[in-house]
Amino acid sequence: MTEFAPTRRALVAGAALMGAAAASGSAFAQNSQSNSSGAPMTAQAAQFPKPPYPEQQQPWPGLAQRMNPRPDHGEETYQGTGRLSGKRALITGGDSGIGRAAAIAFAKEGADVAIAYLPAEEPDAQEVKQVVERAGRKFAAFPGDLREQSYTTGLPGQAVQALGGLDILVNNAAYQQWVPRLEDLSDEQFDQTMKTNLYAMFWLTKAALPHLNQGAAIINTSSEVAAAAPENLIDYSMTKAAILLFTKTMAKQLASRGIRVNAVTPGPIWTPLQVVGGQKPEKLPQFGATTPIGRAGQPVELAPLYVALADPAFSYSTGQVFGATGGDAQPGA
Ligand code: NAD
Ligand code: MG
Repeated sequence: MTEFAPTRRALVAGAALMGAAAASGSAFAQNSQSNSSGAPMTAQAAQFPKPPYPEQQQPWPGLAQRMNPRPDHGEETYQGTGRLSGKRALITGGDSGIGRAAAIAFAKEGADVAIAYLPAEEPDAQEVKQVVERAGRKFAAFPGDLREQSYTTGLPGQAVQALGGLDILVNNAAYQQWVPRLEDLSDEQFDQTMKTNLYAMFWLTKAALPHLNQGAAIINTSSEVAAAAPENLIDYSMTKAAILLFTKTMAKQLASRGIRVNAVTPGPIWTPLQVVGGQKPEKLPQFGATTPIGRAGQPVELAPLYVALADPAFSYSTGQVFGATGGDAQPGA
């Protein structure tokens, strides 16, 4: 089990965050090994599923528990070290995928956690509840539709009531549907993408601000598509680029209040988003194959990044963009 130890996770996360810093680089080198293509990875990462993945589709919004193979959100594999002891977090889309990995890691790091998700995702949310409560932390569940302003603006107050305060906001929920051509992009889809990915982030952040104090952190999930601009994801990519600008402007505005705002740009990650029309179904078996690491990332591999950005010790970084792209180029650095 030593290769799964939190110290190694922290080192790997640290290396990712510090980029080319010599000290981090040597720590990473000492604690990593190479796969056959030469990509650096931990022993745990070497065991993650590789392409080809089984073909599969689910109706939107999809369930992580119905995916094959099931994503690793850190239920068993993430180990905390108390970095977020006593913090209170609200995470949208916390039922599955990257949001679930953040929820689980936050709880294992000592934080109480509230998640927002669609009512259809209750079976996934129940799994998160079990893991958070097993970690000895408070859990609050707020099912609803982020496109509804009154539901969304009510979330921070509800989280404060349930957890006793709010220190960390993760704007992570998103809608992604591929369409071949602009002529196929309906007004309904365009509206759903903008409402879910942008309006909800705006409404939620605004409603959360009265509750956030010095040392608080906001983390926004963007994407590598903000720069890669894949031809079939017009509306989605527009929102992911806008999230970077929202992050940078809000960071400037909130620095004097001691609140940090940072963004994460994932690459191809094995989550329900991808099996509900997020991309062409026939591309799914080779998902992530063209990255230098050569496979899709697992949600748990982003957990150390969300933990680091939530950790008040990371106090000099705001308005920054942090990638987890499997080695592909990432935007906004
Ligand atoms: P996911 O499907 O597990 O999470 C998305 C969540 O969004 C859902 O669980 C759902 O709860 C929430 N959601 C969507 N529409 C909603 C609505 N109207 N109301 C309430 N909740 C709603 O997939 P994921 O990949 O973990 O996505 C999390 C974030 O990661 C998203 O912002 C996504 O854009 C980003 N991202 C994912 C990838 C990837 O390859 N999976 C790559 C880059 C960025
Ligand atoms: Mg989900």
